Amino acid sequence: MPCKFCSEKPVIQLPNSERKLCKSCFIKYFERKAIRTINKYKLIEENDHVVIAVSGGKDSLSLLHLLKKYCQKRNNKIKLSVLQIDEGIKDYRDISIEDTKKFCKSFGIKLHIASYEKETGKTLDKIKKQHKKTIACSMCGVLRRYLLNKYSRKLKATKLATGHNLDDEAQSIIMNQFRHNIALSARLGPITGVKKDPRFIPRIKPFYFLTEKEVATYAYLHNLISKFNECPYCEESNRFFIRDMLNDVEAKYPGTKHSIVASFIEVLPLLKKKYKNQEINSCRLCKEPTSSEICSACKVKEKIKS
Ligand code: SF4
Ligand SMILES: [Zn+2]
Ligand SMILES: [Zn+2]
Repeated sequence: MPCKFCSEKPVIQLPNSERKLCKSCFIKYFERKAIRTINKYKLIEENDHVVIAVSGGKDSLSLLHLLKKYCQKRNNKIKLSVLQIDEGIKDYRDISIEDTKKFCKSFGIKLHIASYEKETGKTLDKIKKQHKKTIACSMCGVLRRYLLNKYSRKLKATKLATGHNLDDEAQSIIMNQFRHNIALSARLGPITGVKKDPRFIPRIKPFYFLTEKEVATYAYLHNLISKFNECPYCEESNRFFIRDMLNDVEAKYPGTKHSIVASFIEVLPLLKKKYKNQEINSCRLCKEPTSSEICSACKVKEKIKS
């Protein structure tokens, strides 16, 4: 069956649909959908300084590609910078940092790198060696969120853009449900945060309604990734288990991930209202914003020291 809109050969069958699209119709569909999300949720406005969190994987490089095009069409009234976190994972992050460097150079965008080693004195590989029983992702996720916010604020960003897609969001929603952590869910959505606070840079997710398969296809069609590279610690994580579980359910009941995200979007305004008065303190040790006395990153740093 040819492309739904022209007679060209299709490259993808859209999720939950009989529609098949060729390369150029798919790219148009993809970019329109991301831009519709940007406009509907006011993710980017004129004169914003958007810092893009880039890992060097398919999601963040696709985001960089799309936002560069988006800004060029708006006469570059939006400033773009790239921030990469170097966790210190040998044969994984060092490779993606080289890819990001090349990419940023060809796009003429400044790359900033923040590292765990500089922040804590140790790479993640070293931390993991010393704390064999601790799941790497539980420390890594906390440090990454901390550094992304701290450094994008230092760079005077008005928004921090991430390549999170619909699959990622469905996983986060289910993980929070399983852990009975609804306060965390209140911080999700296409633009994060419960109330405005200059210490928190709002995170935006232009790929919120696009699936992992769609983002991977966009990256592939633009030659953005040369080879698939996965973190050596990812199998330890709870997210990995939830990802597989949701993929199994989706295969049996197509549309499940879309339904999870669509239902969540309906209740999100209520969650934000419920948690909007939650107090935000400054961490006693590092002065970064936190809902407790000591922030999660300082707790991880203490653990690493011991
Ligand atoms: S998979 Fe886990 S350890 Fe690896 S980069 Fe992601 S959060 Fe860090
Ligand atoms: Zn077509
Ligand atoms: Zn702290």
